[in-house]
Amino acid sequence: MWENNRGTGELVAKDPVCGMFVDEKKTKFKSVYQGRDYFFCSAGCKKIFDKYPEKCLEEKSSSCCRC
Ligand SMILES: [Zn+2]
Repeated sequence: MWENNRGTGELVAKDPVCGMFVDEKKTKFKSVYQGRDYFFCSAGCKKIFDKYPEKCLEEKSSSCCRC
């Protein structure tokens, strides 16, 4: 789920909905689920995650994303 590129000081999160890599410092789309932060590439992905968090986290594929 997380990619830590400590070498460059960049922390890159993976959008759990569509699988895109998102710079957590730049994205405005964030949700907290079960004590963890999740970042999204778009409002659409955040919406989907907020609605079906389990589905998005269980399915590693992009089947729940329409963005
Ligand atoms: Zn996305």
